[in-house]
Amino acid sequence: MSTSGTHGPVVVAIDGPAGSGKSSVSKAAAVALEYAFLDTGAAYRSLTWLGLERGIELTDAAAVVELLQTFHYSTEVHGASTIVHVADGGGPPTDVTAAIREPRVTAEVSDIARIPEVRVALNEVFQRLILSTDRPGIVVEGRDITTVVAPDARVRILLTAAEDVRIARRSAELSPDAASTASQLRERDRRDAQVVDFLTAAPGVTTIDSTELDFGQTVQAVVDLVRTTS
Ligand code: C5P
Repeated sequence: MSTSGTHGPVVVAIDGPAGSGKSSVSKAAAVALEYAFLDTGAAYRSLTWLGLERGIELTDAAAVVELLQTFHYSTEVHGASTIVHVADGGGPPTDVTAAIREPRVTAEVSDIARIPEVRVALNEVFQRLILSTDRPGIVVEGRDITTVVAPDARVRILLTAAEDVRIARRSAELSPDAASTASQLRERDRRDAQVVDFLTAAPGVTTIDSTELDFGQTVQAVVDLVRTTS
C-alpha cells in the first residue's frame, strides 16, 4: 500500500525522541494546515494499557500477539485533542485518552514496541487510518514513520532537541522531579533506539532541531516546510 500522496492525502511524516515536542508540535501543525493527525505512540500505549488491564506479562511475545487478536483501536480528533478508544473483543469501547499517559503505561510501552508482530499489526492499522482520512493531508508522528510506516511520504521530518532541553520540557509537563524524569526519558530512548533509529535522519529526511526554538517557532518551521514541499 502506498502513502506517497500522489493520489491519496499529503502525508507529513514526523519522527523524534521522547520530549522533542513531537506530539504537540505535530498536532498544532496539523491544525494550522487543516490536516488530520495521527499519533502512532497512542496505539502502542493503548495496547500496553489493555495488556496491563488483563494482567498480561508484556515481555511475553506470544501472550501479547494473542492480545492483538482482540484489540480494536480508534481515535477521534476534536479540535486540538485526540480521543482514544480501545475495545477488547466484542466489548464496548473504553475511553483511554488519559489512562494511556499514566506512568505505568509509559514505563512498559517499550516492551511491547519491540515485538515484531506488534509493529507489523499496528503498521497495518496506521496505513488504513492514513488512507481513510477525509482531509487533504495528514500529519503522522512516531518513531519509524519516515522509515517504515510512510517512507514515501511527501514531507519527512526528524524533530530533535538537545537532551537537556528535552528533559527540561518533560519535567515541566509531568513532574517537578527532574532527576527521575531524566532517567526515565533516557531509559525509554535507550530501549526504543534498540528497535528503530529515530536519532539520525534517514536519506531525504529534513532535520528540524528545536533546541533554540520556542513552541510557535517549531510549529512554524514544520508548516513552512510542508508549504514549500507539497
Ligand atoms: O510517542 P510516545 O512517547 O507516545 O510513544 C510511546 C512509545 O510507543 C515509545 O516509547 C515507543 O516505545 C513506541 N512507539 C514506537 N513506534 C512508533 C511510535 C511509538 O515504537 N511509531
